[in-house]
Amino acid sequence: MSSPDIIVDINNLRRTYQVGDEEVVAVKDVTLTIPSGRFIAVVGRSGSGKTTLLNLVAGLDKPTSGTILFQGNDISEMNEKELTEIRRHKVGFVFQAFGLLPLLSAFENVELPLRISGTGVREREERTREALSIVGLVGRANHRPYELSGGEQQRVAIARAIVTKPPLILADEPTGELDSSNASSIFGLFLEMVRDSGITVVAATHDSTLLAMADQVNEMRDGQIVDQFEGSEISARMERAHSERYSVSAPVDTIPDEEPYESQPEDEANSPPETDEDQVNRFRRPGS
Ligand code: ADP
Ligand code: MG
Repeated sequence: MSSPDIIVDINNLRRTYQVGDEEVVAVKDVTLTIPSGRFIAVVGRSGSGKTTLLNLVAGLDKPTSGTILFQGNDISEMNEKELTEIRRHKVGFVFQAFGLLPLLSAFENVELPLRISGTGVREREERTREALSIVGLVGRANHRPYELSGGEQQRVAIARAIVTKPPLILADEPTGELDSSNASSIFGLFLEMVRDSGITVVAATHDSTLLAMADQVNEMRDGQIVDQFEGSEISARMERAHSERYSVSAPVDTIPDEEPYESQPEDEANSPPETDEDQVNRFRRPGS
C-alpha cells in the first residue's frame, strides 16, 4: 500500500528498446516517489529519458521491468479498460507541440475529452468555461488555434488537460516552443494550479531558468535520475557553479572563453537559443 499523499510510486523502472542488434536503455532502474499536490520537474538533456518516463507514468507505454503504482495500483498490470480509465480521468497530458485540432475552436478543443468520456452538454459547457477561465482564455473561446499565439495555444492545451479534473498532469517540454516570458508564465500557471487545486504536475523541461518554480527537481542523465533537489536551490547552485568557474584565484587559462551562463533578462529576447547541453550545464554542480 502506498501512502495517501503519494500519487505515483515508481520502483526499479526500466524501459529498453531493441534497435537492430543494439539494446537502448531509455529508462534505467528509476526509483522515484511523486508526492501529491506538488509541482515536480524532470530536467535533462535531449535523449536522457524524460519522454519515456512520462509516457510510462501515463500508461502510454509498458515498462520492460519494474513497477509504477498509480494511487496504489500497478499500471503495468492494468488491462486496456483500466488504462483507458486512467488516461481519461486520472491523467492530463500536455505536449511540446500543443496538439490542438486546427479545425476546432479553443472551446471545442477543451471540451473534447468531456465529449469522449460522455459528459452531458450542460456539464461540458460549465467545465469547459471553468478550465478556460483558469488559463485566462475565456475571451478567446471561439478562436481557432491559428488565431492564437503560441503561449495562448499552450494555455488551451493545458485547459484541455485539466478539464476532466485529473489529479495528475504530465507535461512533456510544454514550453519548448515558447519564448522565455511565455515559458515562465506557463510554469507559473502550473504552480498556481498546484497551489489552488492540489493537483500534481510533473513537467519535463531542459530549461533550467524555469526550475526555481518547482517544488522538486529530478535531473535525468542516460535514463537515470542522478540528482534530486528543491527548485528553490537552483539559484544558489547556479551561483556556486558560476563562482567556482570564474573564481579570481583560477589561473587565467582555465577560465572558459564562453559567456557567463547566467542569463540576464534583457538579453534573453535577442540571444540565440542555448543547446540542451548548455542549459543542463547551467545548473550542474561543477565536477558532477
Ligand atoms: P528525452 O525525452 O529526454 O529527450 P527520450 O525518452 O525521448 O529522451 O529518449 C531516451 C532514449 O531512448 C534516447 O536514446 C532515445 O533515442 C531512445 N528512444 C526513445 N524512444 C525510442 C524508440 N521508440 N525506439 C528506440 N529508441 C528510443
Ligand atoms: Mg522528450
